Amino acid sequence: MEIIKRKAYAKINLGLDITGRRADGYHYINTVMQTVDLYDVITLSALEEPDVIKIECSDPAVPAGDSNLAYRAARLVMDAHETGRGVLIKIEKNIPMAAGLAGGSTDAGAVIMGMNELFGLRMSQDEMDSIAVRLGADVAFCLRTGTWLGQGIGEELTPLPDAPSAWALIVNDGFEVSTKWVYTELDAAEIIDHPDIEALCDAIEKQDLRVMSAAMGNVLETVTIDRYPQINELKRKMTETGAIGALMSGSGPTVFGIYDSKAAAEDALRQFKEEAGDIPRRCFSVQFVRNLQKGVLDD
Ligand code: ATP
Repeated sequence: MEIIKRKAYAKINLGLDITGRRADGYHYINTVMQTVDLYDVITLSALEEPDVIKIECSDPAVPAGDSNLAYRAARLVMDAHETGRGVLIKIEKNIPMAAGLAGGSTDAGAVIMGMNELFGLRMSQDEMDSIAVRLGADVAFCLRTGTWLGQGIGEELTPLPDAPSAWALIVNDGFEVSTKWVYTELDAAEIIDHPDIEALCDAIEKQDLRVMSAAMGNVLETVTIDRYPQINELKRKMTETGAIGALMSGSGPTVFGIYDSKAAAEDALRQFKEEAGDIPRRCFSVQFVRNLQKGVLDD
Protein backbone atom coordinates (compact mmCIF):
# COMPACT_ATOMS: atom_id res chain seq x y z
CA MET A 1 0.00 0.00 0.00
CA GLU A 2 1.56 3.30 -1.10
CA ILE A 3 -0.66 5.82 0.71
CA ILE A 4 -1.97 5.74 4.28
CA LYS A 5 -4.49 8.24 5.60
CA ARG A 6 -5.25 8.44 9.31
CA LYS A 7 -7.27 10.53 11.72
CA ALA A 8 -5.05 11.94 14.48
CA TYR A 9 -7.54 12.57 17.29
CA ALA A 10 -7.32 15.29 19.95
CA LYS A 11 -7.71 14.49 23.64
CA ILE A 12 -9.21 16.26 26.59
CA ASN A 13 -8.35 15.66 30.24
CA LEU A 14 -11.48 14.84 32.23
CA GLY A 15 -9.32 15.03 35.34
CA LEU A 16 -5.73 16.06 36.01
CA ASP A 17 -3.86 16.02 39.30
CA ILE A 18 -0.19 16.50 40.14
CA THR A 19 1.10 14.04 42.71
CA GLY A 20 4.79 14.89 42.90
CA ARG A 21 7.93 15.91 41.09
CA ARG A 22 10.79 13.84 39.71
CA ALA A 23 14.40 14.79 40.37
CA ASP A 24 14.72 15.89 36.71
CA GLY A 25 11.82 18.34 37.09
CA TYR A 26 9.12 16.25 35.37
CA HIS A 27 5.87 16.11 37.31
CA TYR A 28 4.08 12.96 38.36
CA ILE A 29 0.51 13.21 37.22
CA ASN A 30 -2.71 11.33 37.69
CA THR A 31 -4.97 12.04 34.75
CA VAL A 32 -8.03 10.72 32.95
CA MET A 33 -7.67 11.28 29.23
CA GLN A 34 -10.48 11.05 26.72
CA THR A 35 -10.23 10.90 22.92
CA VAL A 36 -12.60 13.28 21.13
CA ASP A 37 -13.78 13.37 17.53
CA LEU A 38 -11.71 16.39 16.53
CA TYR A 39 -8.76 15.39 14.39
CA ASP A 40 -5.90 16.31 12.10
CA VAL A 41 -5.69 14.22 8.95
CA ILE A 42 -2.30 12.62 8.39
CA THR A 43 -1.48 11.29 4.92
CA LEU A 44 1.69 9.28 4.48
CA SER A 45 3.20 8.30 1.16
CA ALA A 46 6.42 6.48 0.39
CA LEU A 47 9.22 8.38 -1.39
CA GLU A 48 11.80 6.72 -3.61
CA GLU A 49 14.74 8.45 -1.85
CA PRO A 50 15.72 6.39 1.22
CA ASP A 51 15.80 8.17 4.59
CA VAL A 52 14.19 11.42 3.36
CA ILE A 53 11.37 12.88 5.48
CA LYS A 54 9.25 15.69 4.06
CA ILE A 55 6.51 17.53 5.91
CA GLU A 56 3.72 19.55 4.34
CA CYS A 57 1.24 21.20 6.70
CA SER A 58 -1.93 23.12 5.90
CA ASP A 59 -1.14 25.57 8.73
CA PRO A 60 2.02 27.66 8.16
CA ALA A 61 2.32 28.29 11.92
CA VAL A 62 3.23 24.63 12.48
CA PRO A 63 6.97 23.98 12.16
CA ALA A 64 7.64 22.13 8.88
CA GLY A 65 11.16 20.87 9.63
CA ASP A 66 12.81 18.55 12.11
CA SER A 67 11.21 20.24 15.13
CA ASN A 68 7.80 18.95 14.04
CA LEU A 69 6.85 16.04 16.30
CA ALA A 70 5.59 14.11 13.25
CA TYR A 71 9.03 14.48 11.65
CA ARG A 72 10.75 13.32 14.84
CA ALA A 73 8.42 10.31 15.04
CA ALA A 74 9.26 9.33 11.46
CA ARG A 75 13.00 9.70 12.16
CA LEU A 76 12.83 7.40 15.20
CA VAL A 77 10.91 4.78 13.21
CA MET A 78 13.49 4.97 10.39
CA ASP A 79 16.37 4.73 12.88
CA ALA A 80 14.88 1.50 14.19
CA HIS A 81 13.87 -0.03 10.82
CA GLU A 82 15.43 -0.24 7.40
CA THR A 83 12.57 0.98 5.19
CA GLY A 84 14.66 1.54 2.06
CA ARG A 85 12.34 4.46 1.23
CA GLY A 86 11.58 7.97 2.42
CA VAL A 87 8.26 9.35 3.58
CA LEU A 88 6.10 12.38 2.74
CA ILE A 89 3.90 13.42 5.68
CA LYS A 90 0.96 15.69 4.90
CA ILE A 91 -0.78 17.24 7.91
CA GLU A 92 -4.21 18.79 7.56
CA LYS A 93 -4.24 20.76 10.82
CA ASN A 94 -7.61 21.18 12.54
CA ILE A 95 -6.61 20.89 16.21
CA PRO A 96 -5.70 24.28 17.75
CA MET A 97 -1.97 24.45 18.59
CA ALA A 98 -0.42 24.78 22.04
CA ALA A 99 -3.91 24.38 23.39
CA GLY A 100 -3.84 21.44 25.83
CA LEU A 101 -5.38 19.12 23.22
CA ALA A 102 -2.21 17.11 22.40
CA GLY A 103 -2.15 18.32 18.78
CA GLY A 104 1.53 17.60 18.16
CA SER A 105 1.53 14.36 20.14
CA THR A 106 -1.38 12.93 18.17
CA ASP A 107 0.27 13.72 14.83
CA ALA A 108 3.36 11.86 16.08
CA GLY A 109 1.24 8.90 17.18
CA ALA A 110 -0.50 8.73 13.79
CA VAL A 111 2.89 8.76 12.03
CA ILE A 112 4.19 5.85 14.14
CA MET A 113 1.08 3.76 13.43
CA GLY A 114 0.88 4.88 9.80
CA MET A 115 4.52 4.08 9.01
CA ASN A 116 4.07 0.68 10.62
CA GLU A 117 1.35 -0.01 8.04
CA LEU A 118 2.89 1.79 5.08
CA PHE A 119 6.15 -0.12 5.29
CA GLY A 120 4.75 -3.35 6.76
CA LEU A 121 7.11 -3.06 9.74
CA ARG A 122 5.12 -5.32 12.09
CA MET A 123 6.08 -3.27 15.14
CA SER A 124 4.53 -4.56 18.37
CA GLN A 125 2.50 -2.28 20.65
CA ASP A 126 5.47 -2.32 23.07
CA GLU A 127 7.87 -1.15 20.39
CA MET A 128 5.52 1.64 19.26
CA ASP A 129 5.05 2.67 22.91
CA SER A 130 8.79 2.86 23.47
CA ILE A 131 9.21 5.13 20.44
CA ALA A 132 6.24 7.21 21.63
CA VAL A 133 7.59 7.92 25.12
CA ARG A 134 10.83 9.26 23.65
CA LEU A 135 8.75 11.93 21.90
CA GLY A 136 6.60 13.08 24.82
CA ALA A 137 4.49 11.99 27.75
CA ASP A 138 1.19 12.16 25.80
CA VAL A 139 2.28 10.31 22.66
CA ALA A 140 1.72 6.76 23.99
CA PHE A 141 -1.88 7.69 24.82
CA CYS A 142 -2.24 8.97 21.25
CA LEU A 143 -1.53 5.43 19.98
CA ARG A 144 -4.86 4.55 21.59
CA THR A 145 -8.42 5.85 21.71
CA GLY A 146 -11.08 5.96 24.40
CA THR A 147 -10.81 6.64 28.11
CA TRP A 148 -7.49 5.97 29.86
CA LEU A 149 -5.89 6.65 33.21
CA GLY A 150 -2.41 8.14 32.79
CA GLN A 151 0.09 7.97 35.64
CA GLY A 152 3.84 8.44 36.06
CA ILE A 153 4.55 11.39 33.79
CA GLY A 154 1.45 10.41 31.80
CA GLU A 155 2.96 7.46 29.98
CA GLU A 156 1.86 4.67 32.38
CA LEU A 157 -1.50 3.87 30.86
CA THR A 158 -4.39 1.85 32.24
CA PRO A 159 -7.53 1.38 30.17
CA LEU A 160 -10.79 2.51 31.78
CA PRO A 161 -14.25 1.54 30.59
CA ASP A 162 -15.38 3.98 27.89
CA ALA A 163 -16.81 7.11 29.52
CA PRO A 164 -20.59 7.36 29.18
CA SER A 165 -21.38 8.73 25.75
CA ALA A 166 -21.53 12.51 25.75
CA TRP A 167 -20.92 15.56 23.63
CA ALA A 168 -18.22 18.06 24.41
CA LEU A 169 -18.11 21.67 23.33
CA ILE A 170 -14.45 22.65 22.91
CA VAL A 171 -13.60 26.36 22.88
CA ASN A 172 -10.20 27.90 22.21
CA ASP A 173 -9.94 31.68 22.25
CA GLY A 174 -6.63 31.95 20.43
CA PHE A 175 -4.36 33.09 23.27
CA GLU A 176 -1.45 30.83 24.21
CA VAL A 177 -0.48 29.61 27.66
CA SER A 178 3.04 28.23 28.00
CA THR A 179 3.04 24.75 29.53
CA LYS A 180 6.43 25.51 31.10
CA TRP A 181 5.03 28.66 32.75
CA VAL A 182 2.08 26.69 34.15
CA TYR A 183 4.29 24.07 35.80
CA THR A 184 6.77 26.63 37.15
CA GLU A 185 3.96 28.66 38.70
CA LEU A 186 2.39 25.53 40.10
CA ASP A 187 5.63 24.59 41.86
CA ALA A 188 5.53 27.92 43.64
CA ALA A 189 1.83 27.75 44.45
CA GLU A 190 0.19 25.99 47.34
CA ILE A 191 -2.22 23.40 45.98
CA ILE A 192 -5.24 23.40 48.23
CA ASP A 193 -7.71 21.71 45.96
CA HIS A 194 -6.79 18.35 44.44
CA PRO A 195 -9.35 16.78 42.10
CA ASP A 196 -10.64 13.40 43.23
CA ILE A 197 -9.44 11.19 40.36
CA GLU A 198 -10.65 8.04 42.12
CA ALA A 199 -14.21 9.43 42.31
CA LEU A 200 -13.96 10.34 38.63
CA CYS A 201 -12.88 6.80 37.67
CA ASP A 202 -15.64 5.39 39.87
CA ALA A 203 -18.29 7.49 38.08
CA ILE A 204 -16.94 6.32 34.72
CA GLU A 205 -17.09 2.73 35.92
CA LYS A 206 -20.71 3.26 36.96
CA GLN A 207 -21.50 5.06 33.65
CA ASP A 208 -22.92 8.02 35.56
CA LEU A 209 -22.45 11.08 33.35
CA ARG A 210 -23.66 13.60 35.92
CA VAL A 211 -21.47 12.33 38.75
CA MET A 212 -18.57 12.08 36.28
CA SER A 213 -19.05 15.69 35.20
CA ALA A 214 -19.27 16.87 38.81
CA ALA A 215 -16.04 15.02 39.67
CA MET A 216 -14.04 16.57 36.82
CA GLY A 217 -11.16 18.77 37.98
CA ASN A 218 -7.83 20.09 36.76
CA VAL A 219 -5.26 21.18 39.32
CA LEU A 220 -3.50 23.35 36.71
CA GLU A 221 -6.47 25.73 36.81
CA THR A 222 -5.02 26.81 40.20
CA VAL A 223 -2.53 28.96 38.32
CA THR A 224 -4.10 29.59 34.91
CA ILE A 225 -7.42 30.99 36.10
CA ASP A 226 -5.66 33.57 38.28
CA ARG A 227 -3.73 34.93 35.33
CA TYR A 228 -6.33 34.33 32.60
CA PRO A 229 -9.79 35.01 34.07
CA GLN A 230 -11.19 34.38 30.55
CA ILE A 231 -10.85 30.66 31.30
CA ASN A 232 -13.28 30.89 34.20
CA GLU A 233 -15.56 33.11 32.14
CA LEU A 234 -15.74 30.44 29.42
CA LYS A 235 -16.52 27.76 32.01
CA ARG A 236 -19.26 29.95 33.48
CA LYS A 237 -20.80 30.57 30.06
CA MET A 238 -20.77 26.87 29.31
CA THR A 239 -22.68 26.15 32.49
CA GLU A 240 -25.15 28.86 31.51
CA THR A 241 -25.69 27.16 28.14
CA GLY A 242 -26.56 23.87 29.84
CA ALA A 243 -23.18 22.15 30.29
CA ILE A 244 -23.31 19.63 33.13
CA GLY A 245 -19.60 20.20 33.75
CA ALA A 246 -16.86 22.43 32.31
CA LEU A 247 -13.08 22.32 32.64
CA MET A 248 -9.78 23.50 31.20
CA SER A 249 -8.01 20.76 29.23
CA GLY A 250 -4.36 19.90 30.03
CA SER A 251 -2.27 23.01 30.61
CA GLY A 252 -4.87 25.06 28.75
CA PRO A 253 -6.09 27.39 27.61
CA THR A 254 -8.77 25.33 25.81
CA VAL A 255 -11.95 24.85 27.82
CA PHE A 256 -14.53 22.14 27.26
CA GLY A 257 -18.07 21.62 28.49
CA ILE A 258 -19.95 18.32 28.73
CA TYR A 259 -23.51 18.18 27.39
CA ASP A 260 -25.91 15.28 27.60
CA SER A 261 -27.37 15.69 24.11
CA LYS A 262 -26.14 16.60 20.67
CA ALA A 263 -28.83 19.29 20.37
CA ALA A 264 -27.67 20.98 23.60
CA ALA A 265 -24.01 20.96 22.50
CA GLU A 266 -24.83 22.34 19.06
CA ASP A 267 -27.05 25.03 20.49
CA ALA A 268 -24.22 26.08 22.81
CA LEU A 269 -21.78 25.98 19.87
CA ARG A 270 -23.96 28.43 17.96
CA GLN A 271 -24.14 30.81 20.94
CA PHE A 272 -20.37 30.71 21.48
CA LYS A 273 -19.79 31.46 17.80
CA GLU A 274 -22.26 34.33 17.79
CA GLU A 275 -20.73 35.92 20.89
CA ALA A 276 -17.10 35.68 19.74
CA GLY A 277 -16.93 39.28 18.46
CA ASP A 278 -13.24 40.17 17.89
CA ILE A 279 -11.96 37.08 19.69
CA PRO A 280 -10.20 34.64 17.28
CA ARG A 281 -12.36 31.88 18.71
CA ARG A 282 -12.35 28.31 17.43
CA CYS A 283 -15.05 26.02 18.73
CA PHE A 284 -16.14 22.50 18.01
CA SER A 285 -18.96 20.27 19.13
CA VAL A 286 -17.61 16.72 19.32
CA GLN A 287 -18.49 13.27 20.53
CA PHE A 288 -16.29 11.10 22.72
CA VAL A 289 -14.36 8.50 20.71
CA ARG A 290 -14.48 5.00 22.12
CA ASN A 291 -11.70 2.52 22.71
CA LEU A 292 -10.41 0.66 19.64
CA GLN A 293 -11.93 3.06 17.11
CA LYS A 294 -9.05 2.80 14.68
CA GLY A 295 -8.91 6.20 12.99
CA VAL A 296 -8.08 4.80 9.56
CA LEU A 297 -9.64 6.79 6.71
CA ASP A 298 -10.83 4.66 3.81
CA ASP A 299 -10.61 7.21 1.00
P1 ATP B 1 -0.14 18.82 25.01
O1 ATP B 1 -1.60 18.80 25.33
O2 ATP B 1 0.42 17.46 24.60
O3 ATP B 1 0.71 19.54 26.02
P2 ATP B 1 -0.55 21.02 23.26
O4 ATP B 1 -1.89 20.81 22.62
O5 ATP B 1 -0.55 21.95 24.43
O6 ATP B 1 0.05 19.63 23.65
P3 ATP B 1 0.75 21.19 20.70
O7 ATP B 1 -0.41 21.51 19.83
O8 ATP B 1 1.31 19.84 20.63
O9 ATP B 1 0.46 21.58 22.22
O10 ATP B 1 1.87 22.29 20.35
C1 ATP B 1 2.95 22.59 21.19
C2 ATP B 1 4.12 23.10 20.32
O11 ATP B 1 4.62 21.98 19.58
C3 ATP B 1 3.69 24.10 19.28
O12 ATP B 1 3.97 25.39 19.74
C4 ATP B 1 4.49 23.74 18.03
O13 ATP B 1 5.52 24.66 17.76
C5 ATP B 1 5.14 22.40 18.32
N1 ATP B 1 4.79 21.36 17.32
C6 ATP B 1 5.65 20.47 16.81
N2 ATP B 1 5.04 19.62 15.96
C7 ATP B 1 3.74 19.97 15.94
C8 ATP B 1 2.60 19.45 15.25
N3 ATP B 1 2.69 18.41 14.41
N4 ATP B 1 1.41 20.05 15.47
C9 ATP B 1 1.31 21.08 16.34
N5 ATP B 1 2.36 21.62 17.00
C10 ATP B 1 3.58 21.07 16.81
